[in-house]
Amino acid sequence: MIVLKDLLEKIENLSKDVTLIAVSKNVTCTEVRELYEQGQRNFGENRVQELAKKELELQDFTDIKWHMIGRLQNNKINQMISLKPVLWQSCDSFERALEVDKRLSYKLDTLLQINSADEDTKQGVSVANAAEIYERIQSECKNINLKGVMSIGAHVDEPKEVQKSFELTYKIYESLKSKGATICSMGMSSDFELAIKCGSNMIRLGTMLYL
Ligand SMILES: *Cc1c(COP(=O)(O)O)cnc(C)c1O
Repeated sequence: MIVLKDLLEKIENLSKDVTLIAVSKNVTCTEVRELYEQGQRNFGENRVQELAKKELELQDFTDIKWHMIGRLQNNKINQMISLKPVLWQSCDSFERALEVDKRLSYKLDTLLQINSADEDTKQGVSVANAAEIYERIQSECKNINLKGVMSIGAHVDEPKEVQKSFELTYKIYESLKSKGATICSMGMSSDFELAIKCGSNMIRLGTMLYL
């Protein structure tokens, strides 16, 4: 298990304004508790089922903030809504936003996921359509409260390619600031330093926290 204080110091040296989300999808509540005891409060899960399980098991830790970061199947929408995540980071299409909005009875803070590496295996809207879809969701989905964008860096060994995908995401984020965007969520264990250099203000780290 990582020493959180050291990691936060390292992050702060790169930028003063970065929120760390501890991704707990591959660990148990034991690890979550250990990080909590070190002061971590924001946690991310990529499956609704697992989010529900951990929320229930850790319900006494009332100040944990749960983020939904994975693909949301339509048959899991109601369950996600009932779990009230602090941020739904993975809204991957206008249609998905509409489906969730239809069933929401409260305002859900949400990020639009951008497939900035243009990979078939990845969820998200295309770079070309991102700004337009963002505005469309804002005007047509009254309970989807868009706060910015999320992206997964290119899944390649070539740092230049990863950098390009981060830069594309950041550019879109910048253009959406006038529409109220304040969160640019990008960067994982293998590429968070690069992501921060490209302007990320929210990183989602899993693997490296538990080594
Ligand atoms: C798993 C996951 C992460 C964390 O990835 P690591 O490489 O383990 O740091 C971040 N974001 C999303 C969307 C994920 O699914």
